[in-house]
Amino acid sequence: MDPEQPLQQLYELGLTVGRTLNLTHETAAFMDWLARSTEAELAALFVARQDGHTLQLVQALGFPLPDEAELPMGMDPWRWLREKGGGEEKEDGLCRYAVPLIAEQRLLGILCVQSRHAGEGLEREQRLVETAASYLAPVLANIQRYRSLEKEVARRTAELAESEAKYRLLAETARDIILVHDMEGYIQYVNRAGLEWSGYSAEEALGKSITDFVPPECLAGIARRREQRLTGDLDMQVYEAEFVNRAGERIPVEVSSSPILRGDQVAGVLLVVRDITRRKQAEEALQRHAEELERCVAERTAELEERVAEVERLNRALTNLLEDLQAANRNLEATAARLRETNEELEAFVYSVSHDLRAPLRAMEGFAQALLEDYGEGMDPTARDYAGRIIAAARRMDVLIQDLLAYSRVSRTEVRLGSVALERVIQDVLQELEAEIREKNAQVLVEEPLPMVQAHYTILCQVLSNLLSNAVKFVAEGVRPRVRVWAEERGEWIRLWVEDNGIGIPPEYHERIFRIFERLHGIETYPGTGVGLAIVKKGVERMGGRVGVESEVGQGSRFWIELY
Ligand code: ADP
Repeated sequence: MDPEQPLQQLYELGLTVGRTLNLTHETAAFMDWLARSTEAELAALFVARQDGHTLQLVQALGFPLPDEAELPMGMDPWRWLREKGGGEEKEDGLCRYAVPLIAEQRLLGILCVQSRHAGEGLEREQRLVETAASYLAPVLANIQRYRSLEKEVARRTAELAESEAKYRLLAETARDIILVHDMEGYIQYVNRAGLEWSGYSAEEALGKSITDFVPPECLAGIARRREQRLTGDLDMQVYEAEFVNRAGERIPVEVSSSPILRGDQVAGVLLVVRDITRRKQAEEALQRHAEELERCVAERTAELEERVAEVERLNRALTNLLEDLQAANRNLEATAARLRETNEELEAFVYSVSHDLRAPLRAMEGFAQALLEDYGEGMDPTARDYAGRIIAAARRMDVLIQDLLAYSRVSRTEVRLGSVALERVIQDVLQELEAEIREKNAQVLVEEPLPMVQAHYTILCQVLSNLLSNAVKFVAEGVRPRVRVWAEERGEWIRLWVEDNGIGIPPEYHERIFRIFERLHGIETYPGTGVGLAIVKKGVERMGGRVGVESEVGQGSRFWIELY
């Protein structure tokens, strides 16, 4: 063999391997070189598997590739080859050698060679093969790296496909409209919701621009946002707009717009478009309610202000009225004080006059009496009648004066109240009136027990004496007077009733009869002075009580007094 020939072929091998990064191709080229350039009668090329646990027999020279081609790492390859039918045991062992394929400090394969050479030729060949192996080893390392990269790419591609499928499913089943357009506005993707709403088929939609989906007044907004994207705004933008479909229907929408980056360039925009018709309707309803409420509040406020103004006016009027009333009250008080004074003077005057009148009256009566007794027989009947009338008039006047004095006493007596037994007062009065009662054959029924009252004993006697004597007096002729007396509790008050079966009193006189000198009958029918009930009223009032009457003409009367 030409000694230059192996070197030439080694050079060619250097040009050949490593071109394709295909394991079979590269290793076949190597074995081809080995067959041509050496005296190898048998060769086996093992390549380390990625897992690092086994070596795989990839090329065989001089024997067929066995089906089972896995050599466990660390096992003697010659033994393994013998077991697989590759080569026989040689006695000297020199014509058989193994070259490790090492690159980047890793064992990438083993080349086993059984040569026809021996001695020096074998050594030369061995060096040549080692040099050739040093070409193949980095190629194997590259192929290994390339394969693992390929695997990684495949894995990532699968992952990407899976995630894309997921996102596609998400986009397709979403209720929102999802669409993608490029920076020219051309639609690149529309989800099912978008197609259904827009009325375009997927093919039609892909030929459209985003401007076909919005009304003209929104175009300026689209241009502005596109400008922002192109000048580097990468934030998600959320804004409200309107979308329009093929049929020209408009819906209010909320758009979330996110840029799609390719490298650091904005390549397109992803839009998630939500129909906010209901939200808008709710907002409008809310707005209407708010306005309605505002209007109501304004109305109520106005009403209230009017009322407040009215109340203020009323208040001012009331204040004025109050001031007037206070002034009137002050006047009244002054008048009442003057009246009280005058009254007291008048009462004092009446008392002294009444008192002083009785002396001349008694003188008149006495002298008229003396005239009748001493000279009566010598007088003619007319003169006697005159003298008799003088006596009767004087007596009547005396009764009147006594009544006036009694009234005056009731008005002037100092009143100190104490607990008084009504039963005792009634018994005392009935005793005092005994002659009168007997004379009229009157029946007086007192319903005992009677309670205690806060009263002035003497005044109460005077009051009841007048009521009982009236009850017996004012009966129709021929009627037997029947009087009933009883008491009842009315809250804090004790009411004492004196009921008779008399002639009764017309309702229009129920108040007047309590005034002094008020009488409803002539003195001939029912004698009296008209002072009795005035004493009753004055007396009861001075004891802090009240009086009244219930009566109808011909139905009897029921007088009452109320005391504590
Ligand atoms: P007098 O008994 O001296 O006439 P009073 O002041 O006691 O005066 O009564 C005033 C008037 O009230 C009486 O004149 C009478 O007309 C009427 N009167 C009072 N008590 C009764 C009575 N029990 N029944 C009917 N009329 C009465």
